[in-house]
Amino acid sequence: MDYKKLADLLFPDITRTPADYEDIYPPRRLPEGAKVTRLGPSPTGFIHLGNLYGALVDERLAHQSHGVAFLRVEDTDDKREVEGAIPVLLDTLSYFGINFDEGATKQGESGSYGPYYQSRRGPVYKACVKKLIEEGKAYPCFMSEEKIASIREYQEKNKLNPGIYGVYAEHRDLPIEKVKEYLDRGEVPVIRFRSPGEEGRYISVHDEIRGNISMPENVQDVVILKKTGLPTYHFAHVCDDHFMRTTHVVRGEEWMATWPIHMQLFDAMGWQPPKFVHNTVLMKIDETTGQKRKLSKRKDPELSLEYYKKQGYFPEAVREYLMTVLNSDFEEWRIANPEADYNEFTFTAEKMSDSGTLFDLDKLNNVSKDVLARKSAEEIYEFMLGWARDYEPELLKLFEENKDMLLKIYDIDRGGEKPRKDLVAAGQIFSFIKYFFDDYFEYQDSFPAECEADRQIILQKYIDGYDPADDNSAWFDKIRAITDELGYAVKPKDYKKNPDQYKGHVGHVSGVIRVAITGRTNSPDLWTIQQIMGPEKVRARIEKAMKA
Ligand code: GLU
Repeated sequence: MDYKKLADLLFPDITRTPADYEDIYPPRRLPEGAKVTRLGPSPTGFIHLGNLYGALVDERLAHQSHGVAFLRVEDTDDKREVEGAIPVLLDTLSYFGINFDEGATKQGESGSYGPYYQSRRGPVYKACVKKLIEEGKAYPCFMSEEKIASIREYQEKNKLNPGIYGVYAEHRDLPIEKVKEYLDRGEVPVIRFRSPGEEGRYISVHDEIRGNISMPENVQDVVILKKTGLPTYHFAHVCDDHFMRTTHVVRGEEWMATWPIHMQLFDAMGWQPPKFVHNTVLMKIDETTGQKRKLSKRKDPELSLEYYKKQGYFPEAVREYLMTVLNSDFEEWRIANPEADYNEFTFTAEKMSDSGTLFDLDKLNNVSKDVLARKSAEEIYEFMLGWARDYEPELLKLFEENKDMLLKIYDIDRGGEKPRKDLVAAGQIFSFIKYFFDDYFEYQDSFPAECEADRQIILQKYIDGYDPADDNSAWFDKIRAITDELGYAVKPKDYKKNPDQYKGHVGHVSGVIRVAITGRTNSPDLWTIQQIMGPEKVRARIEKAMKA
């Protein structure tokens, strides 16, 4: 068979060859050991934690080695495309601190290995397909949907492996005249790869996380070019990662099953494959069953990155949390280097988990508390402002008008040896401090039951003696005096020893004042809160509580 003639018949307009593209996309000039990684999102509009997880691996591997991380849009499947998905993706990733050096950007494309949209790379794929056809490694297939369905039915009935391979690849060797006939009738073929694989033979592949793995060879004549003239994932991945000079392909482990196809394609093209890092899927413990399961778009709002923005997590906290999940020794490093920028940590693919990665919101919240404890009051204020602008516009004015007070609030127990660790995310922070604002004040907890009969009198005595000029200890001495006077124990342990002798203890009495002022039984230091609120507000709260 004259394969050259067949290739020209199918692709008369394709004059460039893969060799030409070798010149157009020359090897990158980068320092020794520099890694080139890429994120290949499909523009489906849903941006999830898995994207960020993968992007962080791409970003770290590239930037840590003085290499390049680029963004390639995998839009060969036009059914799934959502308008405007890419700018949103770029904004979201950038919000979480992931910025690409090259590829699709909001301003257009940047870099010399483009186009970075697969839908615009048709000529490159066709030049490669043409070469495979010329060498007898790929062929046109005109089999109809019905024909393929009937083959599948036969295979199912006879318990045979499904697919187009061996004897079922009926158009593998169509004579050129037959091909012409089909074309003359206006039929458009798909192009299939002529798999050199054999049933029962194995290949050895190397994954950067898992090490060497043995896998069965691919025997399927997979489609590499669709009727639309665009490639399937398999072929696009191989051509693009070759010509874009990717050194490390970081992708989800769902691609491992088809990895042997990719290895055959690299081999057929005569190219050295890049290195592979297959990320494990994100799992969580299901609340109802207690079992590990995959995070699901339908059931788990926390899979979407929008969730974290809306809750107001600091991007740094989410990134830092992902680092703890990604690399087993990150936490240890963080304890040894509490102040260091996370970029100083040496991230390696080998230390990534090779079984499902467990995602845990409580753990994220703890990481977030540590991250926020390292922030200044000013940084927290600015972040809260940005969050309000995007998600709670009615709070924006409140924040702007009360800047001085908010700075003091965020500064409570900040810095020092043991900073407070109770701030998690903007939404939670606001509900944690909202009692400072009359419009948002509410009694979230009830007054201590031990003092219920004395509530009015405690508050009356308190307000009578209240002097904003008192320091913390003078202030508390006054509370002790009220405690004693009304028959409560000044020392909680006395009450615990002899509960019948007292109505309650100093904690209950101060609890009445605390609930009156903050609406809760738990709060940071009450004296400090009052100093920030000012005497007028303190008096008004006490009066309100006397009537409540
Ligand atoms: N478009 C593919 C996906 O979204 C990319 C896989 C890859 O990184 O190779 O899963």
